[in-house]
Amino acid sequence: MDSSDRYDLLIIGGGINGVGIARDAAGRGLKVLLVEQSDLASGTSSASTKLIHGGLRYLEYLEFRLVAESLAERETLLAIAPHIVWPIEFVLPHESHLRPAWMIRAGLFLYDHLGARMLGFGGRSTLPKSKSVRFEPGGYGAGLKPEFERGFSYYDCWVDDARLVVLNARSAAAHGATILTRTRLVSAQRGPIEWVATLEGEPGGRRAVRASAIVNAAGPWVREVLDDVLKIKLEAKVRLVKGSHIVVPRVHEEHHAFILQNPDRRVVFLIPYERQFTLVGTTEVPVLHDEFRARISREEIGYLCEAASRYTAKPITPGMVVWSYSGVRPLFDDGSESPSAVTRDYQLLLDAGGEPGSPPLLSVFGGKITTYRRLAEQVLDKLSGRFPAKPAWTHAEPLPGGDLGGLSYRGLLLDYRRRFPRLPKNWVARLLRRHGSLAEEIIGDAQDEAALGRNFGGGLYECEIDFLVRNEWARDSEDVLWRRTKCGLHMSVAEQLQVRDWMAERV
Ligand SMILES: Cc1cc2nc3c(=O)[nH]c(=O)nc-3n(C[C@H](O)[C@H](O)[C@H](O)COP(=O)(O)OP(=O)(O)OC[C@H]3O[C@@H](n4cnc5c(N)ncnc54)[C@H](O)[C@@H]3O)c2cc1C
Repeated sequence: MDSSDRYDLLIIGGGINGVGIARDAAGRGLKVLLVEQSDLASGTSSASTKLIHGGLRYLEYLEFRLVAESLAERETLLAIAPHIVWPIEFVLPHESHLRPAWMIRAGLFLYDHLGARMLGFGGRSTLPKSKSVRFEPGGYGAGLKPEFERGFSYYDCWVDDARLVVLNARSAAAHGATILTRTRLVSAQRGPIEWVATLEGEPGGRRAVRASAIVNAAGPWVREVLDDVLKIKLEAKVRLVKGSHIVVPRVHEEHHAFILQNPDRRVVFLIPYERQFTLVGTTEVPVLHDEFRARISREEIGYLCEAASRYTAKPITPGMVVWSYSGVRPLFDDGSESPSAVTRDYQLLLDAGGEPGSPPLLSVFGGKITTYRRLAEQVLDKLSGRFPAKPAWTHAEPLPGGDLGGLSYRGLLLDYRRRFPRLPKNWVARLLRRHGSLAEEIIGDAQDEAALGRNFGGGLYECEIDFLVRNEWARDSEDVLWRRTKCGLHMSVAEQLQVRDWMAERV
């Protein structure tokens, strides 16, 4: 083993928490290796509701610390990734028998103010404050049954979750981290001063690496990595709770989303998605063992359709579902009975190894997309005795493509439309949403559609696939169609298969 196989930090898992930690650590000068057994964001981190949110409903469970930290993170992420994070208005139709108006007003008041203390923005959120609203047909009431006449409005943020993961990985790599996808940690032995870990990856074969510390950010697999791979005893338990979403034709043409109360006291979101669609989610189904490819059940589809149809003017039926996805929440088990009540806050458990100088192992339990950046800072704080201290920095540097040169997304779009008048307008808009200021690298000197390479349909051209393969670890059509883009949703099965075959030949 030569010095190139020696790292300060070995991170297990290329979900949002793993890549967030890799970015932060690499930027502080650590030599970092991140291994992901499949594709980046192939676990829970591409299967979320895609909200950067405080979590209004967590207030009912008195999770004030988590809500305050999350509300503050909305501002930071809006600032460092304005191409993939943007504000979205949520409308809550009022139903007094489910929650009285005073209770909702009190919750929204807290929601408006809780994050302020943690903000370095003069203590004020840049998002509009909550308010009471009357539903007009075509306005806030669009798509709803006429009996819903009033409600409340507040703001949270939308994020492209899988792209947030990929961009953090890119930034980590730009700061010197090594990112290996399709590479699994199969075992690791703790030596007196470092770990010796065995990795198994493409193109086959095993290799050994040494690391001064390991971070177990394996999400739903966190226990499996502890028990079966590292063989370390740690009392903490993880609660695995599956959550699913369905995608249906767009319910209304307005920009706002709905947060709908259900008689079981849960809430279900209806969110405008990928222009023509509405995303409906989510469910909470306890699972005992993680299914690597969690799938939606018929019962979950029925539950989501029923929850949405209690409110929508036109019923939402299983036959309308054009796509669905499921993921498993890796929650820290706090002993709560109901899956809704289990804490959404994260726990970082440090196993120092017993002997002085032993290489540490830090395991991440829980953690939301919203809080990944703060979680990473706290991981580095916990490991700070081991490595030279460097200040936190990730709040200040834009993620790749996030430096829009002082323009808003809208301003950037107008600028591109002026500079590339003969490129397809919708494509340019989508490209900017995915890549921000890096879109220029994909367009190159193309001035018209013919210069973009093969058109695969669904808004996907050869030049973008090339870019994703070269810069974003994309290896097959799933990586491209369902994670780095959502072009799969806009393509026929035949078109998807053409992408698969084309990539299989070239990548
Ligand atoms: C239905 C649902 C909705 C959600 N909605 C939101 C939301 O709107 N907003 C929000 O903030 N949060 C949301 N969350 C929570 C959030 O998605 C998760 O908490 C977060 O994605 C967990 O990220 P992670 O990095 O810990 O895990 P993961 O994304 O699962 O990453 C872990 C990775 O580890 C890899 N791995 C495992 N074992 C090994 C090994 N031996 N070697 C190498 N790699 C390995 C896996 O392949 C996996 O990719 C939601 C979750 C669900 C399920």
